[in-house]
Amino acid sequence: MEHKKIIVAIDGHSSSGKSTISKQLAASLGYKYIDTGAMYRAVTLYALRKGFINNKAVDKDKLIQVLPEIDIRFRYNPETKKTDTYLNGENIEDEIRALEVSNNVSQVATIKEVRMAMVKKQQEMGKERGIVMDGRDIGTVVFPDAELKIFLTASTKVRAQRRYDELKAKGLDVSFDEILKNIEERDHIDSTRKESPLIKADDAIVLDNSNMIPEEQNKWLLKKVEEVKNAH
Ligand code: C5P
Repeated sequence: MEHKKIIVAIDGHSSSGKSTISKQLAASLGYKYIDTGAMYRAVTLYALRKGFINNKAVDKDKLIQVLPEIDIRFRYNPETKKTDTYLNGENIEDEIRALEVSNNVSQVATIKEVRMAMVKKQQEMGKERGIVMDGRDIGTVVFPDAELKIFLTASTKVRAQRRYDELKAKGLDVSFDEILKNIEERDHIDSTRKESPLIKADDAIVLDNSNMIPEEQNKWLLKKVEEVKNAH
């Protein structure tokens, strides 16, 4: 059974470093990495471009109608060694990280029909197992049978600082307070929404990485993967 491939579900708060550790873990295991936040961001970008979002109010009916037009894919770029997100064939990896998308994505992610469409795609992507998927509802809704579930968190300030450093490094003009506010707002919307709120699955292991570097987290995660594999 040692070659059995598993599903690793990594859920947690915004900017808790889910994508960093998920990517590393996937690379260490030779698994596929799926960033489900990027999928909700892609839908949000599509809605913004169509003019369906005004002052954070989403025209739900219009968005639901165009959902079948939205094709989201991930493609590995060997030059940057990164996986980019594509919306209807266009590379939108950078655009979906901008604050305009961050400020509207949680509203879009409250829409039941949007979630149903994304969850269906995600379940298809994980059919063959051997994946690390990060998001908010992976261990609770998308793959309740995932062999390993992690709930990642860190203090709000630490998370805001990480996001601030990341955007600054990209040359974006952002303020720390603006980012902190965005993170607090997203935490609130994500945890209190009716459809698949962000909650820890009963069988998820909490990892607070406020004082851990990515390498330490990867080591910790690889040990957990081994434990799970040995137990199966
Ligand atoms: O992970 P990231 O911060 O990029 O996700 C962006 C937003 O998408 C989150 O704030 C959340 O509202 C939503 N999301 C979600 N369910 C997921 C992944 C992301 O609701 N599985």
